[in-house]
Amino acid sequence: MTSQLIQPLSSVAAFLARRHASFVDGEQRPQGDEAVRVLRNPADDSALAETCQADLAQVEAIVQSAHRAFRSGAWSRLAPAERERTLLRFADLVEQHGEELAQLESLNQGKSIHIARAIEVGATVNYMRYMAGWATKIEGQTLDVSIPMPAGARFNAYTRREPVGVVAGIVPWNFPMMIALWKVMPALACGCTIVIKPADETPLTVLRLAELAIQAGIPAGVFNVLLGRGSVAGAALVAHPLVSKVSFTGSTEVGKQVGGTALQNMTRFTLELGGKNPMLVLPDADLDKAVAGAIGGGLLNQGQVCAAASRFFVHASCYDAFVERLGAQVAELKIGAGMDPQAQINPLVSRRQQESVLQHLQVARDQGARIVCGGNRPELPGYFVEPTVLAGVNAGMACAREEIFGPVLSVLKYEDLDVAVAQINDNPYGLAASIWSNDLGKVMDLIPRIEAGTVWVNNHVPLDPNLPFGGFKQSGIGREFGRAAIEGFTESKSVCITY
Ligand code: NAD
Repeated sequence: MTSQLIQPLSSVAAFLARRHASFVDGEQRPQGDEAVRVLRNPADDSALAETCQADLAQVEAIVQSAHRAFRSGAWSRLAPAERERTLLRFADLVEQHGEELAQLESLNQGKSIHIARAIEVGATVNYMRYMAGWATKIEGQTLDVSIPMPAGARFNAYTRREPVGVVAGIVPWNFPMMIALWKVMPALACGCTIVIKPADETPLTVLRLAELAIQAGIPAGVFNVLLGRGSVAGAALVAHPLVSKVSFTGSTEVGKQVGGTALQNMTRFTLELGGKNPMLVLPDADLDKAVAGAIGGGLLNQGQVCAAASRFFVHASCYDAFVERLGAQVAELKIGAGMDPQAQINPLVSRRQQESVLQHLQVARDQGARIVCGGNRPELPGYFVEPTVLAGVNAGMACAREEIFGPVLSVLKYEDLDVAVAQINDNPYGLAASIWSNDLGKVMDLIPRIEAGTVWVNNHVPLDPNLPFGGFKQSGIGREFGRAAIEGFTESKSVCITY
């Protein structure tokens, strides 16, 4: 099944050969006595690299380092144009090292080298440049006030936005580099310092980014990386009193714990959480485009995408044709390693994730869903699951309600649009949705009725740094991207001057 694999660059091989430790004060600092974790290559289950897991003493050291760097003002009080220039240099370095970073991500996370190049690197470099530009555009307001005393006094009142302080950025394993930079870039543009806690499975690209940040001229202590288990290192980071803001992306279950802990110290937080994202296909939809959109929006990164389309509400008049075309095309997708340039479906991130998706498929079978294609684990050593189309799904089945985070597309039939909308909204998640139709009146009517942070029309999953992204309901609190991100990493200070 596997064709010629891309051979890793020598810089990638050398990076993998090192035993990595948390990045503190400008360098990796092993303590010498930490637990070591062996990372495995999802494509073949071989050992890939080793990381030292931080203990609580290291969490303390890393937060102190970020706090010292913040208080020193070397970054937070730098002229905005200088911060912007430095962040643009950082983006240039990420672009120059793009192939190296893409290969590291493909080997560590399992994703297609094409996706790693185009999204983790390409789209992310655009995002970096966009956010660098915000450093020089942060602003407050001047306000007219009517304070009556002391008699005759005049006032000048205004607001200014100031960096919030030390940020804890907690990142999942699906797009490790991109999501880390979604936090690092706005935090640094605002003058904050940051500790990134990557997912235990996928720390490699973030560690390389921290080295490139130093090379770009970002002072030591401004961008730190904490390695270790979420329940130990991550939890201690969130609870640390010197952390002023937690920016968390991950599951709803962990997000609730993180938000609860943050509240104890009044630490500001934003949560970007899970999704069970619907795609609503109206009778007039262009079926070829809708099927292509279902494959692109549902199977990108093997469906390990928070905003992935995973439940498809298709009108009865085109249901059979949609299922038939989708099943035929999905069955043709070539399975192989991320470093196999011909492969279209790659391994999941871990054995655990593979087993979880297979378990969801078993439940779907038991509940009466029909497997149109896929449904199995291929005979390969890596963490693969065949891309799967489920038909005959009803709204009560687990595969129509729960986030699977794998290559599984559940197709439901509807006759009454109002019933479909009610079923779409009858779910705890509300991250994203898409509507497929050229009937402008119907589309405009549907957009405000769908409970989701993003609604796409005739596409599914495109993101832009200027367009706020985040969830309704249990898909999160707050927004990333655009001005919303800048507001999330700054505090508003009101100033009132008597003269
Ligand atoms: P996860 O919640 O298990 O872990 C996310 C991060 O939190 C990891 O770094 C983990 O080590 C850390 N963590 C775990 N327990 C912690 C604790 N008690 N305190 C602090 N940190 C802790 O999620 P995952 O399995 O890595 O990622 C998949 C999930 O992420 C899915 O639910 C997906 O929908 C969601 N996600 C959401 C978005 C979004 O933007 N909304 C984007 C990507 C992924």
